[in-house]
Amino acid sequence: MIEGRNCGTCTACCSFAPIRVETLRKPANTLCAHCAEGQGCTVYEVRPQVCRGFYCGWFFLPELGPAWHPERSGVVIRSESFDNDTITILVLRFSEFLVSEDFAGLVGAWIEAGISVEFERVGPEGHLPAKMRVNELLEAAVAARDLREMQTIFAWSLAHIDQSHTWERDETEFYSALA
Ligand code: SF4
Ligand code: SF4
Repeated sequence: MIEGRNCGTCTACCSFAPIRVETLRKPANTLCAHCAEGQGCTVYEVRPQVCRGFYCGWFFLPELGPAWHPERSGVVIRSESFDNDTITILVLRFSEFLVSEDFAGLVGAWIEAGISVEFERVGPEGHLPAKMRVNELLEAAVAARDLREMQTIFAWSLAHIDQSHTWERDETEFYSALA
């Protein structure tokens, strides 16, 4: 964990993720009932392991500068552990950051390092998120250092998820044994 970083007003990981564990169940893309505005998790000390184990890049990747904070960038970098070879870029909203050199530079560096990079979108409220691997689409543009082409592929990939995916409703009903 990187010292001095905090969530600010971001609540993305308490909203987008579906949770189905013994003590807590909530549908995807729906804010957890334990998440209070401006306060964060109201059951922090007893939150389940699935919440403790959410690996947010903002807290683990020193190469993410201030512009990458999820509430500024609209982007959450997540992974199962950051020790493995997959990074998921959850795009919450479209912002100038997605066309910045900062964003393209790091995505390109991950691809050149052989890391599997996925773009993910949240979809409608109460529906499961969707993602796609973008390495093969971006490899040539990254190798050519073609920023404009990379940005075109970013936009195409995100639009492709939004427009072609059949969003699956998450029927999970909220349940908590935590409070
Ligand atoms: S996505 Fe990251 S910054 Fe946002 S609430 Fe979760 S841990 Fe905090
Ligand atoms: S229990 Fe707390 S940390 Fe877990 S999803 Fe709910 S508000 Fe977020």
